[in-house]
This record gives sequence, structure tokens and C-alpha cells, in this order.
Amino acid sequence: MTELDTRQGTSEALDTDLDEDTDDNRMAHYVKRDDVLRSAVDGVPATALCGKKWFPGRDPDKYPLCPVCKELVGLAEQL
Ligand SMILES: [Zn+2]
Repeated sequence: MTELDTRQGTSEALDTDLDEDTDDNRMAHYVKRDDVLRSAVDGVPATALCGKKWFPGRDPDKYPLCPVCKELVGLAEQL
């Protein structure tokens, strides 16, 4: 069984150089914990499962879950 170590965060932009922060892309994404740690340590954006680069944080419960991340996590859990 493959354990996918992820956590949720929102895409609410902390850095406007990243993807434009619109209502469309302000969603909760899944991201590997290693990436979250690297982001925190190095100050670099993490990469969500769907490929979106962003700074994890804020409150994921306030936003809808990214459908791409949701599908990818769902597929991984079936392995
Ligand atoms: Zn996503």
C-alpha cells in the first residue's frame, strides 16, 4: 500500500507573483508534507498534487477542495 503523505492548505495567494488569486483558483489543495516542510524552511512555494505552485497555509476549510487534487488523492488511495 502506498501511503500518500499529504496535507491540505489553501491557494490563497501570499505572493502575487504566483498564480493570480481569483475566486476561481482560491481552493484547498493537497500537497506532500515534504513539500510543505521545504516551503517553510526554504521559503519556496510548494507544489500541489495538481501541479499548482503556492504557499500552503491559511484555513483550507474555508475553500472548496481542488477537484484535480481530490481525484489524484482518490486514485492513490485505491492503490
Ligand atoms: Zn489542486
